[in-house]
Amino acid sequence: MALPYNERTHDCGALRAANVGQSVLLAGWVDNFRDLGGMVFIDLRDRGGITQLRFDPTTDPKAHEVARGLRSEYVICVRGEVVHRGDKVNANLPTGEIEVKVHEIDLLSKSKTPPFQIADDIETNEDLRLETRYLDIRRTPMRRALMLRHRITKTIRDYFDRNGFLDIETPILTKSTPEGARDYLVPSRLQHGSFYALPQSPQLFKQLLMIAGLDKYMQIARCFRDEDLRADRQPEFTQVDVEMAFIQPENIMQHIERCLSEVADAARGIDVKLPLPRISYADAMEKYGRDAPDLRYEMTIKDVTAAAKMTDFKVFREPVDAGGVARCIVVPGGAEMTRKETDGLTEEIKGIGAGGLPLVKVAEEGGKVVFQTGIAKFLENEAVKAELLRATGAKPGDLILFAAGTEANVCKHLGWLRSTVAERRGMIPKDTWSFCWVVDFPMFGYDEETKAVFPMHHPFTSPKDEDVHLMQLGSDTIPPKEDLLKIRAKAYDVVLNGIELGGGSIRIHRSDVQSKVFRILGLTEEDARKKFQFLLEALQYGAPPHGGIALGLDRMVMLFGGFSSIRDVIAFPKNARAACPLTEAPSEVTNEQLKELGLDRLHEG
Ligand code: ASP
Repeated sequence: MALPYNERTHDCGALRAANVGQSVLLAGWVDNFRDLGGMVFIDLRDRGGITQLRFDPTTDPKAHEVARGLRSEYVICVRGEVVHRGDKVNANLPTGEIEVKVHEIDLLSKSKTPPFQIADDIETNEDLRLETRYLDIRRTPMRRALMLRHRITKTIRDYFDRNGFLDIETPILTKSTPEGARDYLVPSRLQHGSFYALPQSPQLFKQLLMIAGLDKYMQIARCFRDEDLRADRQPEFTQVDVEMAFIQPENIMQHIERCLSEVADAARGIDVKLPLPRISYADAMEKYGRDAPDLRYEMTIKDVTAAAKMTDFKVFREPVDAGGVARCIVVPGGAEMTRKETDGLTEEIKGIGAGGLPLVKVAEEGGKVVFQTGIAKFLENEAVKAELLRATGAKPGDLILFAAGTEANVCKHLGWLRSTVAERRGMIPKDTWSFCWVVDFPMFGYDEETKAVFPMHHPFTSPKDEDVHLMQLGSDTIPPKEDLLKIRAKAYDVVLNGIELGGGSIRIHRSDVQSKVFRILGLTEEDARKKFQFLLEALQYGAPPHGGIALGLDRMVMLFGGFSSIRDVIAFPKNARAACPLTEAPSEVTNEQLKELGLDRLHEG
């Protein structure tokens, strides 16, 4: 009689010493097989973990005979008795105190030899792993990632449900949404030449739901952006999408930080202190060189423009005289860094556009603080030195790394240096979870190449009340660039360990403000109408003040799980060429299909 595999008593991670003496029924995959002459040992694996099975030829010859024929990844069901391992306890395994002495076994399914070993650490090219992802997911880290992802999404849904948010699905076949990336298009069969766009975010729909009066919305939403892929990008990704009516930024931020603290606790037992620190965009750029500051370590950027103005050193003087800034970071104990290390940094920083890397080492000579090497000879003047030491707080043994130029470039270069040096010198504490909010983002950015302003968040983001006057509402004039760049938005990002987890904003709910923003962005009424007519129309039917946010779920799971790629936390991800090696998507389609879609002409051309 076959064993009733549908009546498993435990999963393979469940048994402990307390179960000794029980008869159990387990099923799973052969993880490891050892035939020790007489005795056969098998590690049986399922999603719960691993249990050691023992097959004894003297007491259970039939089962032992079957066991001898097993190979890796065969699927079996066994019935046996839980016994203590005595002095052979494996402390590395949760089930390591016991083993199951098998009396009966059924072979349920055989397996070909897998193309790579089902082990925790493997060095296999990722495409091969993705080609047989179902085998890859049998590995413990991958299984854990998906289980963690479930835990996190469940925690998020529970949080929002408890707080009165409605989980509402928005369309996948839709119209272009305004996140600024390239759309994935789907041709319409019924209207040749027309296309749906896959949503880059549910942005417009969640705003419509607020206008519809639903007040609090959330969705764990799939989004699609056809961008060139980077390590942490996927063409389709998941975001925790939220929108609320009748709120100020603080209300959204409070909900999100409470939700995140529950997630951090559920995922890793991390105790997040609330409220999270709030940093303005301007401060973040000035002190950390980035709008996603890493607060796990100090080494903040110091301004030395005053000292630079006191020197004749061209590398400092020219940029500051032209209205730029001189800033630096002080590397504690950095004077010990070798020439090779600092030369390496110089080469790398040139690679991101810096002219070089001016530096000095701080030392003590005859009771006096002195600068050595690098640009020391340009900073010998006592007043300059005193001002530099005052502004930086540098001490003997430190290394000062400078950048001078436009504020944007200096931020970029010192932001890069700060994180690179911290990483290389082991200054980043392990197991530290440092969250913060970055607020008061500029409303517009400026693209030097196209000489045009662009929305820093998206065109529906509201300016701060105190800056609205800079938009010159009620007049047709486009305000000068200097004024536009001063306007701050009601936009906020939440950051973890220097990585942006998500961002959002309060939206414009007044149609005059919205029209003006479109004009500033160079969108004609006609363009705006074509793209967002339905939203503009809806805004005229009693739109409540509203706002929201979106958090990158994949990234969140990656960070909490300690993974290095978001592909590791997605069951079936795309590779760097935006392809799926498992299904071979994207793939060719038949001429018939193209004809139906009215796309057959493409083939002729
Ligand atoms: N739609 C924005 C995004 O996807 C988030 C938001 O503003 O709520 O980034």
